[in-house]
Amino acid sequence: MDDNDKWNWSNDEIRRVGYRVVDLISDYLTALPGRPVFRPCPPELIDDFADGPLPRAGEGVDALLDEFASKVAAHPFGNGHPRFFGWVNSPPTIIGVFAEALAAAMNPSCAGGNHAAVYVERQVLGWFKKLIGFPESGSMGLLVSGGSMATLTGLAVARHVKLPDVRKDGMQTLPRRAVAYASAEGHTCIRKALELLGFGSDNIRFIPVDDSLKMRVPQLEEAIRRDREGGNLPVVVAASAGTASTGTIDPLHDIRDVCRRHDVWFHVDAAYGGPAVLTARYKDELSALKDADSLALDPHKWMYVPVEAGLSLVRDGAAMRDAFSLVPPYIRTDGNSAGVLGPPWFSEYGVQQTRGFRALKVWMALKFHGVDGYTASIERDLSLADRLAERVRRSGDLQLVVEPSLSIVCFRYAPAPLRGDEEKLNAINKRLLEAVQLGGTAFLSSTVIRGAFCLRACVINHRTAEEDIDLLVDHIERVAGGLPGVT
Ligand SMILES: *Cc1c(COP(=O)(O)O)cnc(C)c1O
Repeated sequence: MDDNDKWNWSNDEIRRVGYRVVDLISDYLTALPGRPVFRPCPPELIDDFADGPLPRAGEGVDALLDEFASKVAAHPFGNGHPRFFGWVNSPPTIIGVFAEALAAAMNPSCAGGNHAAVYVERQVLGWFKKLIGFPESGSMGLLVSGGSMATLTGLAVARHVKLPDVRKDGMQTLPRRAVAYASAEGHTCIRKALELLGFGSDNIRFIPVDDSLKMRVPQLEEAIRRDREGGNLPVVVAASAGTASTGTIDPLHDIRDVCRRHDVWFHVDAAYGGPAVLTARYKDELSALKDADSLALDPHKWMYVPVEAGLSLVRDGAAMRDAFSLVPPYIRTDGNSAGVLGPPWFSEYGVQQTRGFRALKVWMALKFHGVDGYTASIERDLSLADRLAERVRRSGDLQLVVEPSLSIVCFRYAPAPLRGDEEKLNAINKRLLEAVQLGGTAFLSSTVIRGAFCLRACVINHRTAEEDIDLLVDHIERVAGGLPGVT
């Protein structure tokens, strides 16, 4: 290939390189389970990345793919491995991997227009509304980068609805202090969004949680009442349908009722837990998702769509448009399926103008696996988490720190001689976590529950088997037993 051809590949060259890429994908995904879960990047490689020169002359595609294989693919964080249990990171469904390439080949901007990608996204939004039981007419949504952006989007609409002049006045001249409510266990993206929206972190009421880490609803109601009496304006409650820390689901029905009684916006962070509405176990507890004023849900978590894919749904689609729309008159459209511009542009409903074709990977994944396939896979993750919890309960030295919720199990190493010495337990569990993470056999992350540092496993992986759970527990027990200073 000479330099001219680099902008203009022949059919043969696209196929030749494409098949090499497919080989790399297949090698990567099939070799993953046999490799250490995580290994830190070697220092020489870190230096190599840091010191590598700006490429002046381009290089050949084969050398480039070789370099990807040896430098990049060889040093993953471990997500996708059957024994990767860290944070809320799932493996990619392979159909989604291919969909990314197909979407990039078309490379449309999904800002709007009368082309198939736009209708694919609208169909995906419609499917999620159905899945959740959200009203189909009048509501609107967007695919965004993830739960954080979906939260920012939903809370921005809340702010606009409750403070109708906010786009003109900002938060500068409010006669009343605008206040938001979340549980102390809520994701940091809620606070981040509220800070960005000008609420100020002093005007977020972090409502305390009960023993199972759920928001205390009477305290929420009391806080709202107090704010109203004090002349403040309660704007929004951000509830969690599965916290990232422990999987805890706030009492959504009760929070919804409080919001309705007090005319406060009801936002639900369902980034992680939302898809569990498909399961028999959680469908009732999560049925209030359909009553949210706005909702965040991450297809890139429990729906195994490759990152990034987040979803924002808003009950009042017109309000969503009013909160963001700022289009020049030449692209404003109210729907024209015969013309160029197509239905109202997505860019009027959110932050981004040029928008990628994220919808294709979500659309293909849903069509390929079907709702039934997803339900079965999520239920399987739940039962693997049950197995892990049961192993921890039966272990003499391990201890559940809170009852598991959804597919997150939080536990710690607490051998009899150390019980009661919280400081020592925290220290030893930190060391244990690091030893496990660096060991390559399994990977988990951590959380802190009422001051107790614990190991945290999130089972969100269609590649994980029962043996992987057993191996995880056996391994932790073995590593813990070998730590100095335990007995
Ligand atoms: C992951 C997560 C978020 C943030 O979403 P991103 O996709 O990381 O932006 C918010 N809330 C919960 C419960 C999450 O699990």
